[in-house]
Amino acid sequence: MAELFYDNDADLSIIQGRKVAVLGYGSQGHAHALSLRDSGVDVRVGLHEGSKSRVKAEEQGLRVVTPAEAVTEADVIMVLVPDPIQAKVYEESIAPHLKDGDALFFGHGLNIRFGFIAPSAGVDVCMVAPKGPGHLVRRQYEEGRGVPCIAAVEQDATGKAFALALSYAKAIGGTRAGVIKTTFTEETETDLFGEQAVLCGGTTALVKAAFETLVEAGYQPEIAYFECLHELKLIVDLMYEGGLEKMRWSVSETAEWGDYVTGPRIVNDQTKAEMRQVLAEIQDGSFANNWMKEYNAGLPKYNEYKKADEDHLLETTGRKLRKLMSWVDEDK
Ligand code: NDP
Ligand code: MG
Ligand code: MG
Repeated sequence: MAELFYDNDADLSIIQGRKVAVLGYGSQGHAHALSLRDSGVDVRVGLHEGSKSRVKAEEQGLRVVTPAEAVTEADVIMVLVPDPIQAKVYEESIAPHLKDGDALFFGHGLNIRFGFIAPSAGVDVCMVAPKGPGHLVRRQYEEGRGVPCIAAVEQDATGKAFALALSYAKAIGGTRAGVIKTTFTEETETDLFGEQAVLCGGTTALVKAAFETLVEAGYQPEIAYFECLHELKLIVDLMYEGGLEKMRWSVSETAEWGDYVTGPRIVNDQTKAEMRQVLAEIQDGSFANNWMKEYNAGLPKYNEYKKADEDHLLETTGRKLRKLMSWVDEDK
């Protein structure tokens, strides 16, 4: 079983005795920086020239400096800039100012796991990753609760890195809910696999294929949209609340029977073999290397895929139908 840590296992005074730099002020960055400050931690935000986030951070009472200045001042550096640019930010603004005994923190393990960032041996390398979007992390903290976090140590130069990670997690409310100990390898590989096989890749491909099947068979796209995409939320909400059991309790017996007999025909042994292949390509680094190559080439295929789906009948139908549903929020 996973090891869990709560408020009583974490000593807040450790992080209160350090100087923290939060690089980036987006979804995660704003939540970390504000909650660290409200927990009595000395925090500054590091943002590049021309950052859109700068005004927001200053309005919320934080001191904003350049990433290089933030790293120079601080001895705990939390890297919350987008994953594909972290290696560049590390080379240019972090590494030249990092001292032995400093701690480098991440909210996701990709760059460490695949060696795009290789910190020197004298530095602690830790991860504190809330299992929720930044706005929820901040709101829960303000309400006296917290979002569960996972925490890991890749490099323990001081021998005290995990206690520091737990202290950091406490300052953003994580230990109120529970912190699970993991490794950079486990977090990175499972995160990538989950988003590819289920959350993003698997789900969008399933919805598109089913929608196309109905439309090609002559059914109206509007009806197919409701059946294959719209109603998914209802099912996912039930699974989120009470697992497969609660969903099956709620749907009709006919739907439940169809679930048992048809599900394994759609996601079958061949699908699972492909999942193992996808996992192998994550584990051997080929996914991450290909993604970095694509990113550095200016995202040609990424933009091509994005455009193709923007014009898909599923999307044009959905845009029309969502206008009829006043309760559906189109804001991104
Ligand atoms: P966002 O895209 O929301 O925010 C990125 C921030 O970095 C922005 O404030 C951006 O500023 C700033 N930024 C961009 N370039 C630089 C630079 N060169 N120097 C300093 N700051 C820069 O990122 P997320 O919060 O989504 O992701 C951050 C990390 O957290 C990633 O490692 C991600 O994997 C991880 N994570 C994210 C989760 C989420 O819910 N989003 C959940 C768990 C982990 P501006 O926009 O003003 O240019
Ligand atoms: Mg994830
Ligand atoms: Mg991810």
